[in-house]
Amino acid sequence: AWQGHIQPVYHFGTPFNMVVYLVGAMSFVAIQTGLLLVHQLLLIADLRSEAERDPLTGLLNRHALASRLPASLRGWALVAVDIDHFKQINDSYGHAAGDRVLMFVGELLQRHLREGNMAVRMGGEEFAVLLQDMHGPAALAVAERLRTDLQRLAPQRTGMAITASLGLAMASEGADFAQLWRQADAALYAAKALGRNRVEWGPQAGATP
Ligand code: GH3
Ligand code: MG
Ligand code: MG
Repeated sequence: AWQGHIQPVYHFGTPFNMVVYLVGAMSFVAIQTGLLLVHQLLLIADLRSEAERDPLTGLLNRHALASRLPASLRGWALVAVDIDHFKQINDSYGHAAGDRVLMFVGELLQRHLREGNMAVRMGGEEFAVLLQDMHGPAALAVAERLRTDLQRLAPQRTGMAITASLGLAMASEGADFAQLWRQADAALYAAKALGRNRVEWGPQAGATP
């Protein structure tokens, strides 16, 4: 019969062998733990960005805006955008068509954004665009451009004639978002009262900056 010596696959023959084995085993655990951690972090980031965005338009929601604004709004301008007679669009073409209009407006606002600016769905058919470091006339030009692009592109993109009214406000020294929004909203109200499909500027809506 064969009387040979059977060599074990793992044997802790020398202290050196043992160290090599332990380091190997531990690094395996370390890599696993690391991968698990990265996976969890990505998952958290994903859930967080989902909670920050409006599912229909993909724009930031109102809640997310607060955490992204700087302490001082000095130099910022806010454009409030409200679709004109949107209820009629829902009533004549259906809720799904209304949703398509909202998606179109969302895309349009997103496309006008520059680095550091933000577009937000404030609720319903009301949107806000925050412009960083914008002087009066430049912000007014952006708002006017938004209005005309919306009117011009809506028929081919949604099959419907859409207009919106816009209210513009500039942050005064120490103004917080709530104040800025109130100002923009007052200007928007003036734009509606003056016949819609136009941009008004606060605090004295109707005046030019
Ligand atoms: P105005 O020109 O004065 O702004 O009139 P309006 O009809 O646009 O304004 P109003 O506030 O009377 O109507 C807003 C409508 O928006 C009512 C609501 O049913 C509709 N709406 C709000 N959210 C959604 C949505 O997510 N999808 C759709 N399809 N409609 C929505
Ligand atoms: Mg409206
Ligand atoms: Mg409205």
